[in-house]
Amino acid sequence: MKSIDLRSDTVSHPTPAMREAMARAEVGDDVFHDDPTVNQLEADAAELLGKEAAVFVTSGTQGNLCALLAHCNRGESIIIGDSSHIFRYEQGGMAQLGGILPHIVPVQPDGTLRLRDLEGAINPDDEHKPVTRLVALENTHNAAGGMPLSAEYTAEVADFARRNGLLFHIDGARIFNAAAAFGVDVKALVAGADSVSFCLSKGLCAPAGSILVGDRDFIRRARRARKVLGGSMRQVGVLAAAGSVALHTMRDRLGQDHDNAQLLAEGLSELPGICIHGQNTNFVFFSLSDDIDISLDSFVSALRREYNIYLSSYSGERGVIRLRTHYWIDRRAIYKVIAAVSSLLS
Ligand SMILES: *Cc1c(COP(=O)(O)O)cnc(C)c1O
Repeated sequence: MKSIDLRSDTVSHPTPAMREAMARAEVGDDVFHDDPTVNQLEADAAELLGKEAAVFVTSGTQGNLCALLAHCNRGESIIIGDSSHIFRYEQGGMAQLGGILPHIVPVQPDGTLRLRDLEGAINPDDEHKPVTRLVALENTHNAAGGMPLSAEYTAEVADFARRNGLLFHIDGARIFNAAAAFGVDVKALVAGADSVSFCLSKGLCAPAGSILVGDRDFIRRARRARKVLGGSMRQVGVLAAAGSVALHTMRDRLGQDHDNAQLLAEGLSELPGICIHGQNTNFVFFSLSDDIDISLDSFVSALRREYNIYLSSYSGERGVIRLRTHYWIDRRAIYKVIAAVSSLLS
């Protein structure tokens, strides 16, 4: 029986078209800027996001860290959401490796940071304080359940950053899910940002790799940061080839993942014992109601054992299960999950 894996969109495998492109890829030494497949992917990504230049990095974590190392000096501070991926799930790389201090502000339930909180987090020109260099957003916001941030909100933050002489970074690991959710050109979601990172893996299905975009001078510094982090690779066109297929053919179908997430949330919400907490973009999150006498862990392991359905009981919030739909989860799989949960709880 084929498994249905909803633990995350990071479990998505490369498509047959990607494997074919990988086999055919023209390659060269990318540290010498000699890999034509990487060069093309970087040029396409920069153009798509409306920025001057791009660099192919190993992961989203590396993209964010390269951005912060390229933007900030040691002892400087950045303003960032308290539940952001960069602050919570990247081992504090900015502090560990860059001597950069995170100044956290609360992430609102809709994934935004309040402008007055940002305002209050800027240090005055005072020799006791670290210099505030940058503000960062996350779109879609992971811990806010895949919430997309709008072009209007992003423009307000860009304006705030400009007025206050701050740089503006967007962790756009799933920025194309946000573009699909609003039905806008991704350029509109990153217009005022100095840098944006996004994942070619996850919903876009490439086996690995992320992209960081910004102006030419910034990208030159980010390439230096990538080198010292050990992320400069040689004939990496084999991976960039998959990334190109991801960038050109997988963005426009993300709406299907959102539709499937909605179908799943609706189906589950009709089952006694299930409390849906929310559904945004390709995320669904729910818990079991108190009158169900099966623990979350037994529920998750029974689905795996009896139905080959994989859910993750870890979500950052106790008792809440978070699912993410992706390319390899079709409508039939959604109906199977609803039926399995229904029979397990009956
Ligand atoms: C996945 C993710 C990252 C990190 O990407 P990796 O490729 O796993 O290192 C960064 N930010 C957000 C919001 C993510 O969801």
